[in-house]
Amino acid sequence: MRKLLIAANWKMNLNTHQSSNLLVNLDKNIKLHRNIEIVLAPSMLSIQPLSLMLDRRKFRLAAQDGFYVDQGAYTGEVSLAMMRELIHYVIIGHSERRIYFHESLDTIRDKVAAAARNDISPILCIGETKREHEAGETKQVLHDQLVTAVSDLTSGDFEKVVVVYEPVWAISTFDGELADPDQVQGIIKYIRDQIGSLYGNKAAEVCRVLYGGSVDDQTAAAYLKIDGCDGCLVGGASLNYQKFSNIIKLAEAVQYERLKG
Ligand code: PEP
Repeated sequence: MRKLLIAANWKMNLNTHQSSNLLVNLDKNIKLHRNIEIVLAPSMLSIQPLSLMLDRRKFRLAAQDGFYVDQGAYTGEVSLAMMRELIHYVIIGHSERRIYFHESLDTIRDKVAAAARNDISPILCIGETKREHEAGETKQVLHDQLVTAVSDLTSGDFEKVVVVYEPVWAISTFDGELADPDQVQGIIKYIRDQIGSLYGNKAAEVCRVLYGGSVDDQTAAAYLKIDGCDGCLVGGASLNYQKFSNIIKLAEAVQYERLKG
């Protein structure tokens, strides 16, 4: 059975001191969960200090990005090879990187390949913009983003791959437009079907597919209960330890039902 994964994307928030404080509060409020993986993605600056203080039985670290060449003359970059001892996961292809930093499909493919090469699990974000959504292009966009990103992987790599469906129009819109869980269920199935048709049933079965987009402690249950949904990527709400701890409690209840069922 696939383990539920709840990942916190702290984005460009919190200095190292604030990050440590948030971790201390999360640690106090979150119990040890054997069947849920909790992943924290602080800023690059906080990865090392947090790696020294976090309880590795409870939390795993992710980078929010990482460069695909292992080392060399790339001023300002930090490679995934340099981070491999510190992190288990790396977020790749987040819409904010695609939009603000113009990351191309090929760059994202190279980062996914670098993650796999360095034994780091990629958390690959894919999703359509509002314009693409309204034009009925969602599946085509997801297909192109997914197929290119994983094109250097082999079927055996999918055990470590996490794909997150993050509709761009539903990111940080908490009081506004939210994705309908029934539609998300269809998209998650579509993503898994694409993996299955390209890499075989085993790859589709082991790959975890998550949802992300304005998930907080009020909306998480509806997404976590979706058949085939293996967890959530949480942005804004992950900066609030009470909200994030509540999401973990909801995930625990969902996982309990699944294990029973
Ligand atoms: C994200 O940026 O990955 C995200 C899901 O953000 P939010 O939860 O704030 O929508």
